Amino acid sequence: MYLFVSTKPVHPIMKHLFTFAFAALISFNCLAQANLNRCSTFEIMQKREGLQPGYLAGAKAAFDAAKQLAEANRVNRSGNDTVYRIQLVFHVLYNSPAENIPDSVIYSQIEVLNEDYRRLNADTVRTRDEFKPVAGDTRLEFYLATTDPDGNPTTGITRTTGSGSFIGYSPLTDDIKVEPGGKAPWPTDRYVNVWVGNLFFGIVLGYAYPPYNAPNWDSTSLATDSALQGVVLHYAAVGRNNAQPVDQTVAGGRSLTHEMGHYFGLRHIWGDEVGCNTDDGIDDTPLASDASQQTCDTTINSCTDAPADFSDMIENYMDYSDDRCVNMFTNGQIEIMHAMLQTSRAGVATVVTPTGIKNTGDNFDVIQIFPNPSSGNINLNVQIKNGTNFSYEIYNLVGEKLVAESNLTSVSNYRSINLSAQPAGIYFAKITSGEQVVVKKFELAR
Ligand SMILES: [Zn+2]
Repeated sequence: MYLFVSTKPVHPIMKHLFTFAFAALISFNCLAQANLNRCSTFEIMQKREGLQPGYLAGAKAAFDAAKQLAEANRVNRSGNDTVYRIQLVFHVLYNSPAENIPDSVIYSQIEVLNEDYRRLNADTVRTRDEFKPVAGDTRLEFYLATTDPDGNPTTGITRTTGSGSFIGYSPLTDDIKVEPGGKAPWPTDRYVNVWVGNLFFGIVLGYAYPPYNAPNWDSTSLATDSALQGVVLHYAAVGRNNAQPVDQTVAGGRSLTHEMGHYFGLRHIWGDEVGCNTDDGIDDTPLASDASQQTCDTTINSCTDAPADFSDMIENYMDYSDDRCVNMFTNGQIEIMHAMLQTSRAGVATVVTPTGIKNTGDNFDVIQIFPNPSSGNINLNVQIKNGTNFSYEIYNLVGEKLVAESNLTSVSNYRSINLSAQPAGIYFAKITSGEQVVVKKFELAR
């Protein structure tokens, strides 16, 4: 049932698939489940290593570089409220009407992605208490491209019919990305390409190549790979309103949440090998001996962590749990994604400062900006609790920092700021006290 060809030992995921296949012989009802392959990213990376020896070392080097940058970011606390707006293009490849999924399913998919990546998903309440301290908002937002590579208006969705003798697209050949029959990507340094089609080898829900061209990796030796960058999804795994979902366990539209994590450099939380000696390189995801195998079993604790022990984090989007049990990324995973967005994946994102109140923390009693609109001088009144301090920064609409002061105490809570040299328009004041950040919008009008 599984056509993956390899000289390497059978991968543990495949072993489980064979187990499922045996169960399917007993029950027809299990047939769809039996052929389900949650993600082929590990397999395609192994294949790539065969084609281009050194590929896996390169991907690891990219990850290690991102981790170093993430640690430097943590020390400098730079970019902590940055929002990354990421430009997507969906390429729908179809050979039957069912595969030509409607725009509404793609819109639903974008909605799921934004909820999950901004931690606005309704099921954050299901994150167990032991993991709440490390669950975070990635501050990644996604939108369909409005301009195509030639500068023309676009819906951000392309539709292409496949070849006549079609049997499905193969993760092992990436034929969905090659014309004719597939669709060549839009420039992968500016767009996140999402190819949607009928993927075979069982039913593969998706796969994505991680970044490899981080600063300490010689990207020239893998130049041809630029045409492969992006995410591939099975058409029946798109959106949460899909008319023909592969299976109810994956009908929540979270296959793309998972694959996008790979695209931004994240690995499966169990480290892709069975046992407690492999890790995903992320400090705040507990060790796990294997994938959770599409269950929501909260009793699993397959490895002992030190210094404190934790359950297996089946809530993590980078596990293989059902869509109904995943609901979080960790802060460590988010740091890696941000580091990739500053390096290998920088071109696909627009960096913006928040446009709303992010967090009204307990340190603040009053924050006022007046007059608003102002002709040039604004007054900032920040009342904070005794013993705390605050800083502020003023940004224009394109994110340039215009004025900043830090380490202000409660005795210097009233600031008069001269912006008369700035043009009329919308501006933002970001006020920070400890971990708490409030962003206020104001206007200069003449
Ligand atoms: Zn995966």
